[in-house]
Amino acid sequence: LSVKIPMSFRKLSLSRRRMALREATEFDSEAWEAISPGEDLLSLADAMVESAVGIMPVPLGIASGFLIDNETFHVPMAVEEPSVIAACSFGAKLVKTGGGFTTWADDPVMGVQIFLEDAAHEEKITDDLIQEYISNDLVSMEKRGGGYRGFAAERLEKSNVLKIEVYIDVRDAMGANLLNTIGEKLKPALSSVTGGTALMAILTNEAKKRCAGARFKIPVKAFGGEGLKVAKRVVLANQITKEDSARAVTHNKGIMNGITSLALATANDTRAIEAAVHAYASRKGTYQGLTEYRVEGNFLIGEVELPLAFAVIGGAVGYHPASRLALKVLGNPDAVRLARIAAAVGLAQNLTALRALVSEGIQHGHMRLHANRLAYQAGARGDEIDLLADDIWKGQRFHVEEAKNLLERLRQQ
Ligand code: NAD
Repeated sequence: LSVKIPMSFRKLSLSRRRMALREATEFDSEAWEAISPGEDLLSLADAMVESAVGIMPVPLGIASGFLIDNETFHVPMAVEEPSVIAACSFGAKLVKTGGGFTTWADDPVMGVQIFLEDAAHEEKITDDLIQEYISNDLVSMEKRGGGYRGFAAERLEKSNVLKIEVYIDVRDAMGANLLNTIGEKLKPALSSVTGGTALMAILTNEAKKRCAGARFKIPVKAFGGEGLKVAKRVVLANQITKEDSARAVTHNKGIMNGITSLALATANDTRAIEAAVHAYASRKGTYQGLTEYRVEGNFLIGEVELPLAFAVIGGAVGYHPASRLALKVLGNPDAVRLARIAAAVGLAQNLTALRALVSEGIQHGHMRLHANRLAYQAGARGDEIDLLADDIWKGQRFHVEEAKNLLERLRQQ
């Protein structure tokens, strides 16, 4: 049974909500400490979402030493999964042996969709007509170098609904609010000109015009003595993601381990980015892996391209103090640069995962990091964690009770 909370919980003050929760959960002091930052952050949480009761602290780490377009970046990542930051750093190190990542990105163009029923005159929709209705909303964006970038109309076959997509360059923002505002504005205008009735208008998270990519070329000897063999196995493993969607889902999840962690650290909309990426993975009719790999002579070449609607302003981005810090660590990039960094991070994560999969297997590294968490669970704190994790790893027995015994022995020493 779920705990009992008072009626109209959302209408209570933050402190009353917290008090009610504390009582309902019979006060678990460690949990309480975890969700309770200082007053300022509590107020921020309250201002950000309805019915706030605290924060959910996720580890924030830094994957260091990314060489991207001849510049070094240290990448902030927020993630609960133990292996992600380690894997990204290792991937970055491998790619450095070949001179780092080369990246690219489209302009930050997003689309808003307007759906019209019974529209008879779609031919009357023109660029001029659309711009006439939305020019006032785009004044600031045009000053920043963004603005209107065209439209597309399509009749949906089964519903016979007319879909109009209007494209806007939103510069450093994700663009959700501007696009939704524009969509609402265009609803009556497009209805009247086409003789139709507006059903709805909303931005599309597809972000197909906002792609970013990254590439590397590394000497196969970066993989050690049997480097060429490992590289060829990486290529084959990648090929399988084009043929088997069950494998592709996990493959792409690995890419997103890196990208979503960067998105969360910078307070970007992780759900929007993930939805776009997975839709893109299905664009050829089946769900496929998003990376390309090939061997050329003694080099392995890897590449990824995917939609990445990363922002550096808007919503909580750049406003939440943790996001501000993360952006500072990256040297305060613009949105396009951040998307390019994200592509490199996704590719680094994928390279590490594929290399491990076709050599020692993925479980090796995971279990090493799992030992750290187990050490904490057994009661180790501070320096004890690494020492105990080493002992757990040496014994290869991953049980809390055994870890507790090992900790006792460690403390006696
Ligand atoms: P926002 O509403 O905060 O708007 C961004 C603001 O930044 C604008 O007012 C703009 O004028 C200003 N700005 C200043 N400098 C800029 C620059 N250089 N480039 C661009 N804009 C600049 O943020 P948003 O991007 O419109 O919306 C993002 C938020 O909306 C996120 O929290 C997201 O989760 C949420 N949202 C998402 C969806 C969705 O994904 N379907 C729908 C609704 C809301």
